[in-house]
Amino acid sequence: MVLGTYKEVVAARSTDKQIQKLAQDGGIVSGLFCYALDEGLIDGAVVAGPSDVMWKPEPMVAMSSDEILAAAGTKYTFSPNVWMLKKAVRQYGLEKLGTVAIPCQSMGIRKMQSYPFGVKNVASKIALMLGIFCMENFPYESLRTFISEKAGVDFDLVEKMDIGKGKFWIETADQTLSIPLKETHGYEQNGCKVCLDYVAELADVSTGSVGTPDGWSTVFVRTDAGETIFKQAVEAGVIETKPMDNVKPGLGLLEKLATDKKTKAMKVIDERKAMGLPVPFKGSAEKEDPLANV
Ligand SMILES: Cc1cc2nc3c(=O)[nH]c(=O)nc-3n(C[C@H](O)[C@H](O)[C@H](O)COP(=O)(O)OP(=O)(O)OC[C@H]3O[C@@H](n4cnc5c(N)ncnc54)[C@H](O)[C@@H]3O)c2cc1C
Ligand code: SF4
Repeated sequence: MVLGTYKEVVAARSTDKQIQKLAQDGGIVSGLFCYALDEGLIDGAVVAGPSDVMWKPEPMVAMSSDEILAAAGTKYTFSPNVWMLKKAVRQYGLEKLGTVAIPCQSMGIRKMQSYPFGVKNVASKIALMLGIFCMENFPYESLRTFISEKAGVDFDLVEKMDIGKGKFWIETADQTLSIPLKETHGYEQNGCKVCLDYVAELADVSTGSVGTPDGWSTVFVRTDAGETIFKQAVEAGVIETKPMDNVKPGLGLLEKLATDKKTKAMKVIDERKAMGLPVPFKGSAEKEDPLANV
């Protein structure tokens, strides 16, 4: 199960024109959060909001559609959203909490729910975890450096960033530039080299761009909670879907990328173990099914 456990996988996008305009891909994260807020299924969501520093996200508790939309779009550096969950419950008094999480954050949240030492009242309030796919992430200074030095673009003029088709894309108001991903290697966060999850396997619903055409998203509906809200949003016409088999490049590309990520990471894990270094997983390439969720 290289893509984790799921009930359904579809191509999907938000039907809302404003969300389509502001979102990174199909606007599944923003669309589902706005719908869940409107329907009272959550009373707020921790998202990666803007900060005073360009492209440096700051976790924020969004309690309206406007705030959800202010945080739309991918920032290719860390947003410590998990850290904000406690504040969302303790200071904002939220009872039904939504959050968006990259795979490592999804793992942290599930761990917090399984072993809620000191966080029982926070862990039990998480009603909807939307996971986003992640191949790698960049420290803020790395991102700034390779964009300004390799693409020669003033960082403050960048309007959108995206990874796709083997390149890191940078859009400004009047041009679109790209850097081959082989040139961004070395700038990634070191910890990402031992990461075994590409498609946020532990989220309620996970989504990303790979597998579907521009403007659409690949969506895995994984848990009962995820299924309930996703089905309701589709029935309400907030999200439109297409069968995954009808779109290109489809699930095969995701399976390949997820397998490559796990295989590479497993090698690094075994190398680190051989050196006596601590690794955060019990998995090993020597296991019968090294690609199983560990
Ligand atoms: C570091 C990183 C690497 C990624 N790599 C891939 C990849 O390899 N393949 C792939 O298909 N997709 C990848 N994605 C996911 C993709 O870029 C989109 O985030 C995803 O498709 C959701 O799009 P959307 O239109 O549904 O979301 P939108 O409606 O645009 O909402 C995006 C949500 O993500 C939150 N967010 C933005 N940046 C971060 C962050 N750094 N950390 C946590 N939350 C954040 C925003 O606050 C917002 O709520 C990556 C995302 C990140 C953050
Ligand atoms: S590659 Fe893994 S560890 Fe790195 S940011 Fe993405 S999910 Fe987290």
